[in-house]
Amino acid sequence: MQVDYEVIIVGGGPVGMMLAAELALARVRVCVLERLMETTPYSRALTLHPRTLEILDMRGLKAKLLDRGKPITTGHFAALDTRLDFSVLDSSSNYTLIIPQHETEKVVEEWAKSLGVEIRREEEVVAVHQDQHGVEVVAVGPNGNAVLTALYVVGADGAASIVRKQAGIPFIGKNSTFTAMQGDVVLKNPPESGVPSYFNEQGLVMIVPLPKGMHRVVLIDPERMAVPKEEPVSLEELRASLLRILGDDLGISDPFWMTRFGNATLQAQRYREGRIFLAGDAAHIHFPAGGQGMNVGLQEAINLGWKLAAQLKGWAPDWLLDSYHTERFPINTALLTNTQVQSLLFGSSEFSPSVIALRNMLSNLLQIPEANYRLATQISAFNVQYEPDREMEPHVLNGRRFTELHLRLENDVCQNAYELFHSGSFLLLHLGSDERLYDVIDWSKYKHVHVVRASLAKGAPDWHDVHTALIRPDGYVAWAISQSESNPMEAIRKGIIHWCGHV
Ligand SMILES: Cc1cc2nc3c(=O)[nH]c(=O)nc-3n(C[C@H](O)[C@H](O)[C@H](O)COP(=O)(O)OP(=O)(O)OC[C@H]3O[C@@H](n4cnc5c(N)ncnc54)[C@H](O)[C@@H]3O)c2cc1C
Repeated sequence: MQVDYEVIIVGGGPVGMMLAAELALARVRVCVLERLMETTPYSRALTLHPRTLEILDMRGLKAKLLDRGKPITTGHFAALDTRLDFSVLDSSSNYTLIIPQHETEKVVEEWAKSLGVEIRREEEVVAVHQDQHGVEVVAVGPNGNAVLTALYVVGADGAASIVRKQAGIPFIGKNSTFTAMQGDVVLKNPPESGVPSYFNEQGLVMIVPLPKGMHRVVLIDPERMAVPKEEPVSLEELRASLLRILGDDLGISDPFWMTRFGNATLQAQRYREGRIFLAGDAAHIHFPAGGQGMNVGLQEAINLGWKLAAQLKGWAPDWLLDSYHTERFPINTALLTNTQVQSLLFGSSEFSPSVIALRNMLSNLLQIPEANYRLATQISAFNVQYEPDREMEPHVLNGRRFTELHLRLENDVCQNAYELFHSGSFLLLHLGSDERLYDVIDWSKYKHVHVVRASLAKGAPDWHDVHTALIRPDGYVAWAISQSESNPMEAIRKGIIHWCGHV
């Protein structure tokens, strides 16, 4: 079928732009349809968590983001007094970057443009129809209606996703039961430092310092929790709630942006319907607790990008494309559970002495390093692990996050292994110098696999016995073969065909 694009992405928010760039990196002809003329200056997300920073590092974007944000070594769970310590995570990205979503979007969009993504702004998608050959998208723009065709369409068009609705994918879960408020404001008398939170029988306040001397104030006020999400927030309302909860309005003034949001918790029943996929808020929404929504969306984009590209370039194994849903759905189910738990601890049902006692008890438990670590790996997404490959011999690394190895290459140069992922290829990492590696398969047909022979310049847990490992383009270990493997070359050949296709 003759189509205008290989992939159309509906929605040019952070997730749509990231996915577009990932596809363009694999030389897929991709277009983003975005209804807004430009990125909104109002930033919902303020956080880039450790795993997201790692994947952005793998694409060479981390330094640009660091220039625009401020790292802090902690995160939070339900704004409990004991914060989550990210500094103990095994990564150089062992912190959260406080950065307005607007800035993240700009960096990702610039990257997408530099890779040749066509971004069509002021085009609002109003209809999506698919048949077995392709997908037709109708968009309304300043020049009237455009009918565009593609082999695949991805809905990255946010919570109210038209793509999800047109594809007939149910959005299942619970509607909002309360609302919270936030304002990006000037505080004449801000708290001394850090990202403090206050919880008492009158409500909850969280304060986050923003660039340019501003602060974000987030409030859950029992007296305002029943106000519908659509009702605008006023400065007077924020001031009154601060006085009620803290007994001090902190000298609040000059709001840049004020909004109200709820705790609706919904997930698409499936992330794929034929030639249509969903990613980001189009696939799941939840109470924005712990700053996770955009982070998981970006991680989804990097999971889907190479799989869709593989399908279009003709080398995808038949199971690969469906693994997007299989891998990401359970992760987001767990995310929805953790945000619902946080909602409860945030006082969604009561601000009572017993909730305060529960919060204090959990906060004390978080002082136990193992407990703190467990939740830190959840919020940072370091706990994400995909189903190990059952076709290969078991290895502890299979399915796990690829950590930042320090390699000594054959030319004796030391390199951070993340730098080997800038092109978005697989990495076949042979920790040795066996010449037979080059004859194991016809590598000229596997341009999407970067073959590297190296040794570990620095020890790394669980890597001491590795002979060869295949790392996916999204930074997870497809498989690792141990040095005790009786026929490693045959295992490598089999593993390459299983993951990188029979080309
Ligand atoms: C108050 C609040 C605070 C938050 N804080 C954080 C945080 O700290 N950390 C975090 O990780 N997440 C946070 N989130 C969540 C985060 O903002 C979202 O998860 C993220 O924006 C999702 O990105 P997306 O690209 O999927 O969707 P969106 O950002 O919603 O982007 C969708 C895009 O699609 C476009 N679009 C929609 N419909 C159409 C159409 N029909 N045609 C063309 N274009 C269309 C929209 O204009 C928009 O640009 C927060 C959310 C809220 C509400």
